[in-house]
Amino acid sequence: MKKTYKGSCHCGAVRYEADLDLSQGTFKCNCSICTKTRTWLATVPPNSFRFLAGSADLTEYQFNTKNIHHLFCKHCGVRSFGWGEGPEGKFYAIHVTCLDDVEIAELINSPINYVDGRHNNWQSSLIEIQYL
Ligand SMILES: [Zn+2]
Repeated sequence: MKKTYKGSCHCGAVRYEADLDLSQGTFKCNCSICTKTRTWLATVPPNSFRFLAGSADLTEYQFNTKNIHHLFCKHCGVRSFGWGEGPEGKFYAIHVTCLDDVEIAELINSPINYVDGRHNNWQSSLIEIQYL
């Protein structure tokens, strides 16, 4: 079932709401930035994301194809969401551990799809996942 969650960075300058169904799955990835930041994501379409506060507090980082906008708070450094353009249009990537009102049980029970972003092989599931 879709629920509306409030998300934020650590200091609270950046705040948003997102509608998502964690039981439909989340993902972790082995690409260079996801590995270094131990990123755990769920994606939502633009109509399921509402930015509430902190546009002046966000800094953007991009690399490689510059397709994904990696955003982080310039005060606390936390990456609470990002966005990008995929085959089906614009999407928001929610860092699920930045959802303030999520139940730990919802995170524990969310199926995790481990993707091989390191080799740009997004359809392939990873076998070695212990380090992510
Ligand atoms: Zn912050």
